[in-house]
Amino acid sequence: MSKKGKHAKSGEAISLEEVEPSAAPAEEADFQAKLMAILSSTVDILGGNAGIVALWNEKEKRFAEGASYGLNSGGVERLRPLLKEAIPNLATGICVPAATTDQVQDPIIALPLQVAGEMIGLIYVVRPHLAGFFSSSDQHMLSVFADQVAISLQNARMASQLAKERYKIESILESSADGIMAIDTERHILSFNASMEKLTGWKKEEAIGSYCFKVLKLRDNEGAKLCQIKCPITRGAEGFFNLDGSIVAKDGQKVDVSMNYSIASSSNGALLPTVVNVRDISRLRQTEGRRLALLASVSHELQTPISIIKAYASTLARTDAEWSQQTIRDKLQAIEEESDRLSELVTKNLYSARLEAGSLTLNRLALDLPKEARKVAKRLGEQTEIHRIEVNFPPEFPSILADPGKIGEVLTNLGENAVKFSPQGGTIIIKGETSGNEVSVTVADEGIGVPLQDQERIFERFYRVEASLTRPTQGIGLGLYICKSLVEAHGGRIWVESEPGKGSRFTFTLPVGEQR
Ligand code: ADP
Repeated sequence: MSKKGKHAKSGEAISLEEVEPSAAPAEEADFQAKLMAILSSTVDILGGNAGIVALWNEKEKRFAEGASYGLNSGGVERLRPLLKEAIPNLATGICVPAATTDQVQDPIIALPLQVAGEMIGLIYVVRPHLAGFFSSSDQHMLSVFADQVAISLQNARMASQLAKERYKIESILESSADGIMAIDTERHILSFNASMEKLTGWKKEEAIGSYCFKVLKLRDNEGAKLCQIKCPITRGAEGFFNLDGSIVAKDGQKVDVSMNYSIASSSNGALLPTVVNVRDISRLRQTEGRRLALLASVSHELQTPISIIKAYASTLARTDAEWSQQTIRDKLQAIEEESDRLSELVTKNLYSARLEAGSLTLNRLALDLPKEARKVAKRLGEQTEIHRIEVNFPPEFPSILADPGKIGEVLTNLGENAVKFSPQGGTIIIKGETSGNEVSVTVADEGIGVPLQDQERIFERFYRVEASLTRPTQGIGLGLYICKSLVEAHGGRIWVESEPGKGSRFTFTLPVGEQR
């Protein structure tokens, strides 16, 4: 009989991919090792020196080599026709006979591998020429051995199949954008995917085996420990449960999360590990927070003109008082002004909502920017007595292709802010410059300025600087958002440079584009 070491030296594994696509790499290696072990011991017992094991692929109705042993690729090629010849025999359930071919002078025996009457594969064993043909007693002994081999092979195959399924499921869970973890009934973490690592800052190796309440520390808005008082796992009931709250990640960052628990039991009634889906809802909460802030801000802004209108209207409507023509005119004028303010607020709000939805169309025309700036400056000058408005453009300023109405809005918003946020008055300069393929306009004031930490955020929708100085000013934080949207729609940029207490410089650029 041949020595095992001798076989192992020339053993050649053929990829399982042919038979079981996309198996887990480690499991495929394991399955290959088992196939090889089965093949080598079969060859050994039969006194052979080479062999090949082929697995029956029911879908394709063919044998696919699982592993070969002691054969070079030429030897495998020579045995291939035998695998084809074996197929009709399988169909009729007849045992494959021992065979030789012209090319292979060495005696060959085929060992059909069956489990519960079902063919699962074949092993061919080749003997050295001098060792003689396989006898009928050899064949009998081998048919008994084949049953054992078939069972081991079937087990290895099933294990590989299971591993493949497990690998698929684990890959899906691992790559899920939501955090997913499994928790046992004692609340130990059993699995922890990559998104959980990102959410919590805990490494998989640290989290697995830890108590979930130590990793998550879920709390509600009031700081109550939800893991202690509301954990669905401790209730021991089956079903789907939801808990919303916030967790504190390892870096101290608070993350708002929505946790969905799926608790099920096995057929014998024991609770299975709970699968928990953890979704980061911080952005959702932020949007919600902003929506509420907007509602509060808009309500507040609407409330002021409404109160004034109501007060003046009910004063004028009093029957027990006589009003002079002048008083009536003044009060009606105030009512008209407040109605205009109301209308502007509502229009700006609707406009910004339209911009956010992306439904903006530009009517691009050749625009004389210095002229537009002078128009805006004139209008601004009429609204204030404590500010001096200057317009400063170089003489050869290029006309640009832009929507005059929209750029007029940008200039007006920036100009009105300059007036509004320099309550002590001062000079406001609207300055134009050209540089390469773009033009820029800066609106500079000598007002209260914008703190550094707010300079980017003031362009967000509804953002207003929370400072005692700005609080008394009217506005809902939409003007700069509208400016940014309009400038960017033209392919330009907008930013602010400012020093609190000294003033602000808001600059926007526009591409020169094609000239008309
Ligand atoms: P609103 O003026 O309605 O509050 P904006 O979007 O125009 O909304 O401005 C957002 C915030 O940016 C203002 O509330 C203010 O805090 C700050 N801001 C805008 N322009 C100026 C400026 N010229 N000087 C100082 N702060 C400004």
